[in-house]
Amino acid sequence: MSNYHIKHFEEYFQVYRKSVRDPEGFWEEIAEEHFLWRKKWDKVLSWDFSKPEVKWFEGAKLNITENCIDRHLRTRGDKTAILFEPNDPKEGAQHITYRQLHERVCKFANVLKEKGIGKGDRVCIYLPMIPELAVSVLACARIGAVHSVVFAGFSSTALSTRINDCEAKMVLTSDGSYRGAKTIDLKGIVDEALEECPGVESVLVVKRINSEVNMKSGRDFWLQPLLDEAYKDCSPEIMDSEDPLFILYTSGSTGMPKGMLHTTGGYMVYTAYTFKNVFQYKEEDIYWCTADIGWITGHSYIVYGPLANGATTVMFEGVPSYPDFGRFWDIVQKHKIKQFYTAPTAIRALAKQGTELIEKYDLSSLKVLGSVGEPINEEAWHWYNDNIGKKKSPIVDTWWQTETGGVMITPIPFSTPTKPTYATLPFIGIQPALMDEAGNEIRGNQVEGRLCIKFPWPSIARGIWGNQQRFKDTYFSAFENMYFTGDGALRDEVGYYRITGRVDDVIIVSGHNLGTAPIEDAINEHPAVAESAIVGFPHDIKGNALYGYVTLKDAGEGRDQDNLRKEINQVITEHIGPIAKLDKIQFTNGLPKTRSGKIMRRILRKIASKDTSNLGDTSTLLNPEVVEEIIKEAL
Ligand code: ATP
Ligand code: MG
Repeated sequence: MSNYHIKHFEEYFQVYRKSVRDPEGFWEEIAEEHFLWRKKWDKVLSWDFSKPEVKWFEGAKLNITENCIDRHLRTRGDKTAILFEPNDPKEGAQHITYRQLHERVCKFANVLKEKGIGKGDRVCIYLPMIPELAVSVLACARIGAVHSVVFAGFSSTALSTRINDCEAKMVLTSDGSYRGAKTIDLKGIVDEALEECPGVESVLVVKRINSEVNMKSGRDFWLQPLLDEAYKDCSPEIMDSEDPLFILYTSGSTGMPKGMLHTTGGYMVYTAYTFKNVFQYKEEDIYWCTADIGWITGHSYIVYGPLANGATTVMFEGVPSYPDFGRFWDIVQKHKIKQFYTAPTAIRALAKQGTELIEKYDLSSLKVLGSVGEPINEEAWHWYNDNIGKKKSPIVDTWWQTETGGVMITPIPFSTPTKPTYATLPFIGIQPALMDEAGNEIRGNQVEGRLCIKFPWPSIARGIWGNQQRFKDTYFSAFENMYFTGDGALRDEVGYYRITGRVDDVIIVSGHNLGTAPIEDAINEHPAVAESAIVGFPHDIKGNALYGYVTLKDAGEGRDQDNLRKEINQVITEHIGPIAKLDKIQFTNGLPKTRSGKIMRRILRKIASKDTSNLGDTSTLLNPEVVEEIIKEAL
């Protein structure tokens, strides 16, 4: 039996048991049968969480781009690898076949080499969602350079901090980017950032919006003329399985972003294997993940996972609201998308628009719907299920992290029965544990605790770039011999997991531990509520009390706020109990979010405790104006 593709629930359990009983044997078989290695490993796994150190497929030699491109050329040369959908639908989609991708990556790789980039050098990529972004990621991997993609919505300060942190020698960018009706001066942002980055020797610039930009002589080069001159083949650098592949910074929801380091062999095996099963990808399917490649979701499930499976992966340059809020559904209809993978924040924003626009489009191609990034609240889950999936496409609520490299807890569609707000069961090879505060594992079902992982999986991050001590302190010190995720979770009566929020965000009210997700989930059930976030603030009697920030649909048009407050507490009482009632409810026009779309509760917590002199690291904050407004109107 091949274990590569799981087709039913019974099989999931069989394969899961096998993967846990003999992890080395299991992953060795997957790695051997489904990937191209230049040399086999000497040892499948060695690990020690106390150091911490993890090595997969030690001694093996490979190049990940041979696995993602070259090996498909014979059988899938003319198949679309990347389907590019531009910001402006009138520009028309672009199909890049595996053969074309091969040539583009090779040429780009040769340009990098010519500009002095070699194995181990760091290259910072600050590009919009255009094909060159995926191509440059792969070009780095082709020659063994370590890419560090920075989301092209970050400010110059956030950019320079990351460039300096990973000591990049080169920056790849474009003259500008399109974002809905707007353009953004990316090159200008890079120029500003580079004033603080003495280590950067060269900048390659893609022409995208044809704007006037400054080109610093000797440092800045237009990419196209260099590509025109470049040779169309580039033999891949042969890498060790444990050689670095990329550095990627976390979203910064809970503090200073961490530059997670991922390596080659294990990352490839795990992202490919999860992609195949979590999305049940079949040869002719067109798969679309709406994330940006600037996030781990884009790395693992737009670029590496899909391409390693020879899939067709969509790259969308624009935003869900341009030219109107029907854009996502227009793309689904136009390309007959089979798998659609997005984030709860996008689902809530689209749900706010009603369903009129959706009805204009044929969404019948959809087979699997995915969610990632935050807990998906029950109302959003049902909205997604009813209006987009028409109750026939299973929703995979995938829980994972930048640090984990790939999906960790998820249903397998058409196998695992889904349950709203539950990420359900561990993926193959993943051994979760719930821990109590004293450091003991909580066994059995219907329990709640801190979510840890007991055993390494192939794509676990190998470190924080330049700061192994922080890596150890953050993930391997809270509980002995465990990887600590920082999230809380509960396990229900059948063993399904539900993520209850960040452990940092847990609020102790009158001695009860309250996770944020279930309470926000209840609040969001109120028909007038669009989104909400709760935090604790000091209270004389209860220790802490709850402060809720609530945004309303239609800005709460014609609603009496005091009545609404009562109704919201009523809903909480019904769903959770009076213990979780909010002491204060502030209605806001928005919530502070990271640029990856997650609510930043740490800022709201400071506002609730009237401690706004220092909001902490705000480099990844999307909407400072919302924060100012919330501070002004704080209760
Ligand atoms: P930082 O680590 O810098 O604070 P971050 O944790 O938001 O930022 P990411 O690695 O992008 O950075 O996000 C991982 C986190 O996102 C998880 O730890 C979890 O809290 C949340 N998350 C992701 N997917 C899900 C999901 N399906 N359900 C619930 N939470 C999720
Ligand atoms: Mg995190």
